[in-house]
Amino acid sequence: MEHDKQETRLYPANRLREVAAAAGAAGLDALLLTPGPDLRYVTGYEAPALERLTCLVVPADGAPFLVVPRLEVPAALASPAGALDLEIVGWDETDDPYALVARRLGGVGAVGLADRMWALMVLRLRAALPAARQELASVVLRDMRARKSPAEIAALQAAADAIDRVHAQVPGWLRPGRTEREVAADISEAILAAGHATADFAIVASGPNGASPHHTASDRVLQPGDAVVVDIGGTMPSGYCSDCTRTYAIGSPPAAFAEYYQVLKDAQDAARRAVRPGVSAEAVDAAAREPITAAGYGEFFVHRTGHGIGLETHEDPYIVSGNTEPLQPGHAFSIEPGIYPGPHGARIEDIVVCTADGCQELNKVSRELIVAGG
Ligand code: ZN
Ligand code: ZN
Ligand code: ZN
Repeated sequence: MEHDKQETRLYPANRLREVAAAAGAAGLDALLLTPGPDLRYVTGYEAPALERLTCLVVPADGAPFLVVPRLEVPAALASPAGALDLEIVGWDETDDPYALVARRLGGVGAVGLADRMWALMVLRLRAALPAARQELASVVLRDMRARKSPAEIAALQAAADAIDRVHAQVPGWLRPGRTEREVAADISEAILAAGHATADFAIVASGPNGASPHHTASDRVLQPGDAVVVDIGGTMPSGYCSDCTRTYAIGSPPAAFAEYYQVLKDAQDAARRAVRPGVSAEAVDAAAREPITAAGYGEFFVHRTGHGIGLETHEDPYIVSGNTEPLQPGHAFSIEPGIYPGPHGARIEDIVVCTADGCQELNKVSRELIVAGG
């Protein structure tokens, strides 16, 4: 099946060995990964996060194993993890799965825990492995996850294409008299129809709400002359995420808005043009910020320029002042400057990938100010 081939490319069988070697190189004896993006990255298994312990154990030396509740064993075997060289160890309702992990792992001095592991499990693992120093698995996985493989970039491109198709429909839904919430419901439905497995967020921030970067959607009724910030995204069946913002106008927007929208568009363009290997993440942030500051709107650009994206909507690398890490080919992230002076605001967001010599733009939907339903 084509689906299986895609999964094999996204979640290659040798990743377990690479992760084990990287854990050893980082001075860890094992990685312990509970359900979430770290476990999915290493095995392809989209395990449910439950109070019963599911835990992938990847020793730096030795065979990896996946501890799962007995009732989850069929699902684990049916997942891409079932095709890996990985023992699946079921535990019964009366077993102590933490003791099981400790017994099989033996005496260890340091373990890396999935960044999103529940505190419940962190503390029980600490009790079961009292001699083990606990660190974050991201010490090992951060750089690997940040540098996307060609298959991961293809998965992000498919996600971007899907969300672009949703944005292409948004102007038709932005009509005076409708509420933000009604528009958000149309968008969430379209995110699924475009091929996502889940609709993760649909920000529809109209008029004064547009001046609040993380406003979601309310019962405010759209009015002629509104500027509307629409920031939407979902997760594809592959596990990879989309995230794209466009700002629309209903009828003719206020003159002040039209003026800074152009500044914003130029700034977003400048940041995309700054992307290439070796350039620091903070230099991309500066490339977006300088033209906005020069035009007098600097105090209204109140957030970082972007975030990495992959199996999580927000992950490394962060495009923010103070992050001096140089961009590398395969880094995938958003470029999303905003200007929020009130009583309206604007943001433009695209996902890009740093290539061997520049910037690959995944979102293709127009960045021109689109006047909708006025
Ligand atoms: Zn955000
Ligand atoms: Zn974003
Ligand atoms: Zn966004």
